[in-house]
Amino acid sequence: MTCYQEITCPDCGSSDIMKSGRSGLGTQRYRCRNPECSTKTFMLAYRYKACEPGIKDQVVDMAINGSGIRDTARVTLLAKCPLD
Ligand SMILES: [Zn+2]
Repeated sequence: MTCYQEITCPDCGSSDIMKSGRSGLGTQRYRCRNPECSTKTFMLAYRYKACEPGIKDQVVDMAINGSGIRDTARVTLLAKCPLD
């Protein structure tokens, strides 16, 4: 694993995260363990590839602009980054 990144909840910013299976597209799903957080589960697409300049901004822009998770996942799939 050469691409370490800290995983944080996109909603509350907590780093108290656990893995929670994968989506149909094979995207790792995570669960926020902050009991006060309303997000509960999220895809790493929000933070995926944060180690590569440009990709993060692209994905974050898509998330902020309301792109569907499918579009966001497509971007991250194109920019493969082995996290496991
Ligand atoms: Zn959270």
